[in-house]
Amino acid sequence: MPESAYDCIVIGSGPGGYVAAIRAAQLGMSTAVIEKDAVGGRCLNYACIPAKAILRVADILHEIDEADEFGIAVPDRTVDFAKVFERRQKVVKTLTGGVAGLFKKNKIEYIEGTASLAGENKVTVDGTEIEARKAIVLATGSVPKPIPGTEFGGRVIGTEEAWALQEQPKTLAVVGAGASGAEIASAYGRLGTDVLLFEALDRVLPTEDADISKAAGRRLAKQNMTIHTGTLIENVQSQDDKVTFSFGDQQGEADYLVIAAGRGPDVEALGLDAVGVKLDDRGLIDVDGALRTSVKGIYAIGDLVKGPALAHKASDEGVIAVEDAAGLETHPIEYIDIPRATFCTPAVGSFGLTEEQAREQGIDVVVGKVNYGAVGAGTVYGDRTGVIKIIGDKQYGELVGGHIVGAKATELIQELVNAKALEGGYPEVARIVHGHPTLAEGVMEAARAADGWLIHG
Ligand SMILES: Cc1cc2nc3c(=O)[nH]c(=O)nc-3n(C[C@H](O)[C@H](O)[C@H](O)COP(=O)(O)OP(=O)(O)OC[C@H]3O[C@@H](n4cnc5c(N)ncnc54)[C@H](O)[C@@H]3O)c2cc1C
Repeated sequence: MPESAYDCIVIGSGPGGYVAAIRAAQLGMSTAVIEKDAVGGRCLNYACIPAKAILRVADILHEIDEADEFGIAVPDRTVDFAKVFERRQKVVKTLTGGVAGLFKKNKIEYIEGTASLAGENKVTVDGTEIEARKAIVLATGSVPKPIPGTEFGGRVIGTEEAWALQEQPKTLAVVGAGASGAEIASAYGRLGTDVLLFEALDRVLPTEDADISKAAGRRLAKQNMTIHTGTLIENVQSQDDKVTFSFGDQQGEADYLVIAAGRGPDVEALGLDAVGVKLDDRGLIDVDGALRTSVKGIYAIGDLVKGPALAHKASDEGVIAVEDAAGLETHPIEYIDIPRATFCTPAVGSFGLTEEQAREQGIDVVVGKVNYGAVGAGTVYGDRTGVIKIIGDKQYGELVGGHIVGAKATELIQELVNAKALEGGYPEVARIVHGHPTLAEGVMEAARAADGWLIHG
């Protein structure tokens, strides 16, 4: 049975909610987390983590397929999808078990049930009312939205279901070539599924810098995949054993159609209206820089609020929200400088403005761009085609954006994010000593290129 009151009540146990709860407990607040489904939220159970577990398998297979180039013959490689799924489950269990362990360690009460707001400082869980003495943190995440003219059901599935298929599909149609769609297409394509990838805009990963998305598109197209950009699908019909649809003047069919084209905040059960929590014009919960909603003592974080829908953004907001509730000084997040990572092959990591956005903003742009082949590591490790592109402000030497496509891009981008956070510019990155031979030397070379003294190029 839950207590009748806690200092802090967190609704939702995803990367926003569980991190908020741990930080609240560290700050001396008695804390409870209410979760209607599974500890760890969607991120750990259905989204980020299962996705990366399956992508890892595709990466290994991809390396095996390229092993010949390195002098290794693997004549008979097969994918046992049942085992792949088993490992996926194991990874999820290990990590969600870790979160449950952290709750215990920090003396956080984990309450199973669906929560709704019952007043400024009150929450109801399946009929029981609990008081929050200092803060309520809403962290209920987001749910998938179908594209106009379609609905989920049968063989029309969302991204979470795509990562939970227990048999490998022979054919898959993916609608939306943003991060989520590109990851699904790249994983299943490399595992041997025939993939059709549809994107309404003119290129894959359309929000990335144009050079980066072009480079990614070229390599994705070699992964058992046909890419249709500038294309809308229509007339979707889910049948017993397949789904059919049309695009342009063509007909298509696949074992499943995955809609990877949008999500909306999961606010239905929260009863926001009853307590007067306001939404913004996009239907997200309206918050200020400290994640305070329009109602005193109620905070909202993660996919419920503005900014990129990313796990690490949700966690950071969780920390800010409860630190504010504890009376500490906090600073608003610079959303544009949050690292963005796409784990397809080639991987993509970015932050800040694209070249086009920087020019549109009238910044005196300087571009430093190198291929991975510019440094020894690119050749040694077998990825010469990766690209590192730095967008700088020529006048101030500032890092305006960083864009990387290729092996380890999701790790490499962090260096530029850190440099910017510590108020370093590209001239500083250019002069930091980097280990050899590492791909990170490429980041240094791109910074040198921006600063006008590229050594290897
Ligand atoms: C397929 C996929 C892959 C992704 N991959 C990545 C990635 O690689 N990296 C990345 O940074 N981001 C990724 N994301 C985005 C990331 O999953 C989200 O940004 C993140 O999960 C948001 O965290 P959250 O804490 O806001 O909510 P969630 O993780 O959605 O957790 C919210 C929890 O609240 C619970 N809940 C909802 N309503 C109630 C209620 N009324 N009472 C009690 N509990 C409730 C839900 O059951 C859920 O468990 C991915 C998303 C998808 C769909």
